[in-house]
Amino acid sequence: MTMQMPAAPLPRGSLTPKSYSAEEIETEAKRLQKVINQGQLWDLETCKTIAPLTLEINELKRANDVFLIAHSYQTPDIVYGVADSVSDSYSLSKAARDAPQQTILFSSVRFMAETAKIVSPHKTVLHPSPEAGCSLSDSITAADVRDLKARYPGVPVACYINTSAEVKAEVDVCVTSSNYLRICEKLPGDRLIFVPDRLMGKHLTEHLAGRKEVINYDGECYVHATFTGEKIRSWRSRTAEHGIELKVLSHPECDADVIAESDVVGSSEKLMEEALRLGAEGKPDIMLITECGTADRVRAESDNEINLIGTCVMCRYMKMTQLEDILQALRDPHPAQIIELDEEIISRAQHSLNEMFRLAE
Ligand code: SF4
Repeated sequence: MTMQMPAAPLPRGSLTPKSYSAEEIETEAKRLQKVINQGQLWDLETCKTIAPLTLEINELKRANDVFLIAHSYQTPDIVYGVADSVSDSYSLSKAARDAPQQTILFSSVRFMAETAKIVSPHKTVLHPSPEAGCSLSDSITAADVRDLKARYPGVPVACYINTSAEVKAEVDVCVTSSNYLRICEKLPGDRLIFVPDRLMGKHLTEHLAGRKEVINYDGECYVHATFTGEKIRSWRSRTAEHGIELKVLSHPECDADVIAESDVVGSSEKLMEEALRLGAEGKPDIMLITECGTADRVRAESDNEINLIGTCVMCRYMKMTQLEDILQALRDPHPAQIIELDEEIISRAQHSLNEMFRLAE
């Protein structure tokens, strides 16, 4: 397994936002407090400290016709303070493609901004934190895929969408957490190579047992690999002693024993929808087995009482982007903050994504 080296962090200077009147700051801080909807952590004074940043970012977006998209795992000040669209990586790439604006600012990790560039090559895609990589995406390079293809000639290769543009360009088809089982079933032959997620590959191996052999790779999302079925069983039995019927919602990047203990398995968007639905149905006791950003969104967007039980894990890559980075990229992007991809890589990666759309039908 090869680790891709993330870009060096940009120098973080003393960036000073524009000056705003006390009244403008007060009004913006109240708006932020309302939309973030987590009064204990994001009280009025905290919101006042970020208000000048969100005011200037929103001003620059309007002035320069920029569409700002943020992954669900970004922090609430970004998700609710400045983003125009918030979702999981797959939906956000479609949002980037369909937005009328010619400039997209993608607040997330690098591979997601690259996917936005692949589906909208004629747009400018800004990525505020070039150093924001991903343990899964960085676990594999294009050369690793070429080696696998040389070792298993003619065997189709499927890659999870959490990969770099260069890796997407080498494979036959991309898949997401919502379609990997369906698409891999349809690939020709009785063998397939699945990269880079070993845990998702494990579910796939079990799902296709007796029908296809799966050649797996050794990458993992360090966030989702943290959870275990044992911890869920322990929470279930403890809460059951108090008459609590715990609903467990988990992401498919988790290990098979976590999936086996879960009531719902799906992308971050699906988990959020399910949590809101359960809350509305009077089933508020929920264990969310994923990155902490999903829990923040459930807290902010639920009209009903929801008790999030157990823990979440924070992704250090996802939390690298701060409002200051976004402001700096909007004011005067550093070359490393502009996604540039070779035309041939774009065209070959587009082919893998188009195959996904075709086979997902
Ligand atoms: S949570 Fe972080 S490490 Fe895991 S797949 Fe997403 S970006 Fe990568």
